[in-house]
Parts: sequence; structure tokens; C-alpha cells
Amino acid sequence: PLDKDELGKNTWGFLHTMAAYYPDNPTPQQKNDMKSFFNSFSQFYPCEVCAKDFQQELRLQPPNVENQKGLTKWLCDMHNIVNVKLGKQSFDCNRVNERWKDGWLD
Ligand code: FAD
Repeated sequence: PLDKDELGKNTWGFLHTMAAYYPDNPTPQQKNDMKSFFNSFSQFYPCEVCAKDFQQELRLQPPNVENQKGLTKWLCDMHNIVNVKLGKQSFDCNRVNERWKDGWLD
């Protein structure tokens, strides 16, 4: 059966890792594709309340697809919106590359 938390944890892992490896200088095609990815993702994410809220957040704050830095920061902010909604701690977005790309530096 579908476990919302297990699905969420794994999905965030995928999304943050994908953002971490997004190019520093994406082509116009890559920028468009990444925008489309999040639009499609938000329609098919198999947790209805999550998907509805995420669609709303996407409208308020569309993905920053300019480069790796922009996309990782945007996704971190999106995740923090959900964290706050669920009463979880906010994540320090300065450490997103440490968490999802380079490994903890301390
Ligand atoms: P998660 O929030 O899953 O985080 C996994 C790991 O990511 C953390 O251990 C931490 O190391 C890291 N992390 C945490 N915050 C950030 C950040 N801001 N940036 C980068 N890394 C970070 N659940 C609901 O109940 N209601 C919802 O409406 C809902 N909406 C969701 C929308 C989306 C798009 C997704 C992917 C998930 C959603 N979830 C929702 C699930 C929820 O966000 C969590 O995944 C779930 O509650 C399990 O939480 P967790 O404590 O294991 O850590």
C-alpha cells in the first residue's frame, strides 16, 4: 500500500538529487524540459493532497530553471513550505549541496 511518508522521503531524495546535478549552464531546451517536468510531476504525484498543494505552490512560485544554484534553492524552498505545513523543522538551504551532492563538510 502507498505510504505517504515513505513515498515523500524517497521522492524528495530523487528531486533534490536531480536538482543537484542540473547544469550550471542549461540550454533553453533543458530549461523548458525542467519546467515541464515539474508541471507533469505535480499532476501525477500519487498523493492527492500533496499534489494539489504543490500545484498551487508552483503557480505562486514557478521553478527557477536558470541554473543549478537557482533550481536547488527553489526546490529547497518548496520542501520547506511542506516542512512548515507539517510542523517539521525548516532546512538550511545553504547546506543543500552538502546534503544532496558533496556530502557533509563538518
Ligand atoms: P522529508 O521531508 O521526506 O525529507 C527527507 C530528507 O530531506 C530529510 O531527512 C532532510 O535531510 C532533507 N531535507 C529536509 N528538508 C529539506 C529541504 N527544504 N531542502 C533539502 N533537503 C531537505 N506529506 C503530507 O503529509 N502532506 C503534504 O501535503 C505533503 N506534500 C508533499 C509534497 C511533495 C512534492 C512531496 C515530495 C512530499 C510531500 N509530503 C507531504 C511528504 C512529506 O514532505 C515528507 O516526505 C514525509 O512527511 C516524510 O518526512 P521525513 O521527515 O522523512 O523527511
